[in-house]
Amino acid sequence: VQDESSVAPDPPVKVVVRIRPANWRERGEEWTVWKTSPNSISVGERKFTFDSVVDSSATQEDMFQLVGVPLVKNSLAGYNTSILSYGQTGSGKTYTMWGPPSAMLEDHSPSSNHGIVPRIFQMLFSEFQREQEKSEETHINYQCRCSFLEVYNEQIGDLLDPTRRNLQIRDDAKNNSYVENLTEEHVINYDDVTQILIKGLSNRKVGASSINSKSSRSHIIFTCVIESWCKGTSSKCFSSSKTSRITLVDLAGMEGNKVDDASRQCIKESKSVKKSLAQLGHLVHILSDDAQTEKPQNIPYRSSCLTYLLQKSLGGNAKLAVICAISPHDKCKGETVSTIRFGLRAK
Ligand code: ADP
Ligand code: MG
Repeated sequence: VQDESSVAPDPPVKVVVRIRPANWRERGEEWTVWKTSPNSISVGERKFTFDSVVDSSATQEDMFQLVGVPLVKNSLAGYNTSILSYGQTGSGKTYTMWGPPSAMLEDHSPSSNHGIVPRIFQMLFSEFQREQEKSEETHINYQCRCSFLEVYNEQIGDLLDPTRRNLQIRDDAKNNSYVENLTEEHVINYDDVTQILIKGLSNRKVGASSINSKSSRSHIIFTCVIESWCKGTSSKCFSSSKTSRITLVDLAGMEGNKVDDASRQCIKESKSVKKSLAQLGHLVHILSDDAQTEKPQNIPYRSSCLTYLLQKSLGGNAKLAVICAISPHDKCKGETVSTIRFGLRAK
């Protein structure tokens, strides 16, 4: 972990909008959203500004450069870092975060379909490697442990061990929250992380009733805790060990109920998703506002499982990127406007 002065001036909350390409069913339909500059988007008559806006011409590598590289740099500098992927079902949240699981088994190249997360760990482990190759007296040692969980209907499930359901959030003696009985795996290289990602993603809740509910009503959170300490006795080694967290969140779809989903269970799920996303929006808004005005605020972390879980990652000395995933199709206009609104609140 480096000293703070080497950190690029990066805002605490950064919002990137990604408009996904139209699929074959949408082609030729009227589009209502388009990128008007590297940081602005038009939705109908209205124009909005963000930190970055990318459209169908952006590759997975471009997204990594925008969001992943700064995250890795900030993590190595000792910050807690997070990404939230927000948008309606089918807008590209999962594709952007992880990419197709099959791609994770392929060779890494800038042109591959790997999402931001595998690219982050590719870079992180190569940075660790570089550190290890430094002189014996000054190099930093790293240890990483990962967990992967799902929040579904305000219940926490372990994606690395599906027999562990309904896990509870507890507070330790220092008032830090943690999830009781959640699996934590030590990882030493990129392949270890890939295996965990593939396993966890395949255990994600899959709804049975319709195409719309397939994995769209759960939030999933991948966390990597990095502990670092300086090896050796050189005076360049600063005192104790440091801990930082990387938190990667693929949120449930923010849309309302579809007609064919209107069973009781789906309405319940949908209500719980909406409530937790609203509370998350509130939290992110306070964080960004807090940073601008530096007024202490009473942050309502415990209002939902999602915000309770993200407390350690988003509070205090943290860097957050929000990715607003958007579909280009006319019929998604309502959801697109809400997604944009969520992004604006985070600014
Ligand atoms: P969400 O997780 O928001 O529900 P997905 O990530 O599953 O959405 O994306 C929906 C579909 O669109 C998937 O088939 C995915 O592969 C495709 N897709 C999304 N974004 C892109 C993109 N930028 N380029 C190519 N295909 C994409
Ligand atoms: Mg998804």
